[in-house]
Amino acid sequence: MKKTNLPKTLRQPLVIAILTWLTFLSVILTTDPIIAKNSFNNSPIQTNLINHLPKTASEAASDAENILPKPHPLPETLQQWQDSSGDYFSEIESISSVGYLIWSQFPVTVYIQTPTPEQLETFEGKSLQTWVTFVSQAVAEWSVYFPLKIIDDPETADIAIWRRRPGLRLSETGEILPARSAEAHYQLYHISQEKSDNSPEELTGILAHKFTILLSPTQTGSYIQSAAKHELGHALGIWGHSPLETDVMYLAQVRNSPPISPRDINTLQRIYQQPTYLGWPIK
Ligand SMILES: [Zn+2]
Repeated sequence: MKKTNLPKTLRQPLVIAILTWLTFLSVILTTDPIIAKNSFNNSPIQTNLINHLPKTASEAASDAENILPKPHPLPETLQQWQDSSGDYFSEIESISSVGYLIWSQFPVTVYIQTPTPEQLETFEGKSLQTWVTFVSQAVAEWSVYFPLKIIDDPETADIAIWRRRPGLRLSETGEILPARSAEAHYQLYHISQEKSDNSPEELTGILAHKFTILLSPTQTGSYIQSAAKHELGHALGIWGHSPLETDVMYLAQVRNSPPISPRDINTLQRIYQQPTYLGWPIK
């Protein structure tokens, strides 16, 4: 996420995909071909992304009002973390009718786009491999503080990282802004579980999210790792920016980003102490 001047009402539809109930069909319609491939049919609880019948924000909010947001237990790494050098928690957004963007099942799984054997044979092959290495290093840096696991399946991963140029954006006055070099956005869905009587009315669901990170292929060298590290910070729940250059979540992109700072982790720790609707039943 980069800060933009778009009003919230415009910005949210850009980053939030859709919140809606699952029935039986795994119909996935979206303008994003990558997200369109994602379905969750193989998971133990039947899940789907449903994008063609979006709930309005007010419908989603009225669902959310039926229960109260609650905090989850912190992952062990954050539970044990102690530091007193401050944080930038006041800069972090809680999303309306979602709460803080907190993961509650650990480790959080990460997919990194992998070149095919054919792609590796092309003139681009080596840079594709280097890209994977840089992004993997960014994941490894966060893994010190937060339980992450790299997996091969983009469909089941909590966070999917793609080597792809983010789309164009519109300014408040409708002008086309240059595409960002990196972007993180999330999508909300329900993990639904049918009760034994198979009655649709008895469906219960858990509000869940999934993150997509796009890193432009035009980024090279240490910029890739730096951008991946910053966007991963957003995907872990730091939905905001630090005013200090010495933090990974500093607003502007820098070539050699600093190591993950104690302030970054203090902020993450405070976020994980907050209430959320994510990971809890919502009906
Ligand atoms: Zn950002």
